[in-house]
Amino acid sequence: MTAKIIDGKAIAAKRRAAVAVRVAELKAAGVAPGLAVVIVGADPASQVYVRNKHKACEETGIHSFSYELPETTTQDELLALVTELNARDDVHGVLVQFPLPAHIDEDAVIEAIDIGKDVDGFHPESIGRLVVGKDTFVSCTPAGVMVLLEESGIDLTGKDVLVLGRSNNVGKPAALLALARNATVTVCHSRTRDLADHVRAADVVIVAIGRPEMVKGDWIGEGAVVIDVGINRTEDGRLVGDVEFETAKERASAITPVPGGVGPMTIAMLLENTVKSAARSAGVE
Ligand code: NDP
Repeated sequence: MTAKIIDGKAIAAKRRAAVAVRVAELKAAGVAPGLAVVIVGADPASQVYVRNKHKACEETGIHSFSYELPETTTQDELLALVTELNARDDVHGVLVQFPLPAHIDEDAVIEAIDIGKDVDGFHPESIGRLVVGKDTFVSCTPAGVMVLLEESGIDLTGKDVLVLGRSNNVGKPAALLALARNATVTVCHSRTRDLADHVRAADVVIVAIGRPEMVKGDWIGEGAVVIDVGINRTEDGRLVGDVEFETAKERASAITPVPGGVGPMTIAMLLENTVKSAARSAGVE
């Protein structure tokens, strides 16, 4: 079997076009959606992410407010900025780009963000709402994974879904989202025994570990769906996922490529969350 390649770029483009239409409607109703993005220090990868978010906002008509703070910014100064952004009527989403310099407590920053503007979905209260099945902002990457599956016509009901990785921003919310879609969910991590056997038994495998091509193609069950969240740069400069794509695609029924799979969905979901927040603040959800 050769897998259908799930085209994240195309699906993200479709969602972004829908965001642009919604933004125009909101503006016509007197609400201009705004996203504030804060970056501390000069981490090159973070700068690229922030630039991409700014560009995506511009393309869809969302106002983007950028705050580039020096590495020496204190925790109190950053928290004061978050408090100011929480209070602003023209800012509907507050995003602080991670990682932060070591002297700043990331949890304190996450918890300072108003959950009504927590468009990254990292706040413990947002995650708690997800656990109990209440409406909330869902972390953008796992939300994007669910959209990829839905747009590809893959229903999780009754399926054995394996989530590989248990981070708060990807693995855990992905598992909760799959559970909410009536999947039977297994979560594996670095202490899991017989990982390959778990992968072999799954109908759908969602991998988010940050280990280049660690999941081998012959671990994939015949006809399984593979969603590869990992983004890793190899020594020769290539971008690869956490799954050995070339061999896995010969066994899977559908698979996401890296790049061009999950990656483009993350920003699309951030835009959707920002628009949802703006609409909610104006009572026109
Ligand atoms: P984290 O480092 O926070 O979590 C990694 C998880 O993988 C942990 O739960 C860890 O287990 C598990 N793990 C690590 N090594 C192994 C192993 N050898 N066997 C089994 N499990 C293992 O990473 P993230 O969740 O933030 O990100 C994962 C990947 O996804 C990265 O490549 C990242 O770049 C990418 N990513 C991509 C995004 C996108 O937009 N496409 C967005 C966010 C992330 P344990 O808990 O036991 O330590």
